[in-house]
Amino acid sequence: MKTIYVDNAATTAMSDRAIEAMTPYLKGVYGNPSSLHTVGQVAKESLEEAREKIAKCLNCEAREIYFTSGGSEADNQAIRSAALNGAAKNKKHIISTAFEHHAVLHTLKKLEKEGFEVTYLDVRANGLITAKEVEAAIRPDTCLVTIMFANNEVGTIQPIAEIGKVCRVKGVVFHTDAVQAVGHVPVDVKAQNIDMLSLSAHKFHGAKGVGALYVKRGIPLRTFVEGGAQERGKRAGTENLAGVASMAAALEEACENMDKNAAKLKKLRDKLIDGLLKIPHSKLNGDRQKRLPANVNMCFEGIEGESLLLLLDAKGICASSGSACTSGSLDPSHVLLALGLPHEVAHGSLRLSLSAENTEEDIDVILREVPKVVEYLRSISPVWEELEKGLRPHLI
Ligand SMILES: *Cc1c(COP(=O)(O)O)cnc(C)c1O
Repeated sequence: MKTIYVDNAATTAMSDRAIEAMTPYLKGVYGNPSSLHTVGQVAKESLEEAREKIAKCLNCEAREIYFTSGGSEADNQAIRSAALNGAAKNKKHIISTAFEHHAVLHTLKKLEKEGFEVTYLDVRANGLITAKEVEAAIRPDTCLVTIMFANNEVGTIQPIAEIGKVCRVKGVVFHTDAVQAVGHVPVDVKAQNIDMLSLSAHKFHGAKGVGALYVKRGIPLRTFVEGGAQERGKRAGTENLAGVASMAAALEEACENMDKNAAKLKKLRDKLIDGLLKIPHSKLNGDRQKRLPANVNMCFEGIEGESLLLLLDAKGICASSGSACTSGSLDPSHVLLALGLPHEVAHGSLRLSLSAENTEEDIDVILREVPKVVEYLRSISPVWEELEKGLRPHLI
């Protein structure tokens, strides 16, 4: 049985180019970039080459890129830095949304306990907010706006350039978790008025455990891992040279192929959405147009997302009910609840996140199997029976 992997928002397979780029550092180039001898300096040069490549893809300067262990660390460091910078000026108000990734939300929750005030903007039913809503929430004591570029569950893409502009005009630091966007949709920190941006290699076919934080020159970055002077003193620890090399190669490749891949993925995505919407009492979550080229997120009434996933897995289809971080818990996704879906509907969610490796045949198999599994689960669901008998109202 062929495995159909459609969980690329959780993680991606490494590309050949990314693997080839990292191999020399696993075997051969073993130096510590901080060493003064030749072996160390060769490693140092490679590190700086990778930094240049990544900076070029984001349209920033190499010295504005700080390597981290991934998206979570970048989010933590960005938000805490901006909060501490704000507190030093007695500005302790932060603006965000209720449907951020947990790396952002949990950092904000901790900051609230430490005396910061956070405004969580409402995302509307389509999973979008507007720059006007951000503008209206900014106060004289606002030190940070942190809003994700593209949502990891429902794939909606926010009006980042406009939000950035509002923040720039008001003099508030703007951070965006762009982990789902970088390598998939155009990201340009200058054109989009972004002050801080988080990215992660394993979401665009690079290695796991490596990411980066872009910080606009002039914004003080705080240190949370103390030790050596790596990353210009902002993040101690011997650099993950192999991982960084894979990240640079993967990003370069993703940016080179972005238009071609996005066109292919949008076609597959739209075929999938149209086909799945034929299932009665189903709905697409998140705006149909302003979404990632590879994201499909559906709800089917009267079923449990977890059961759906297990039965699809038995047929070789690897999908998700939403965020990998909430799997294992029976709470519905905080993202779907933020979109205003009732608990019972949010429970029946399915996220299919494609990659350019997926084929038209994969889509055909999914469109054959999902309706069968949904029908079977409904046939054994007491909730569905009540819905069909009119004992409770259909919500979709
Ligand atoms: C995956 C993801 C993260 C976390 O990145 P890691 O590199 O796995 O720590 C953060 N934000 C978003 C939106 C993500 O999709």
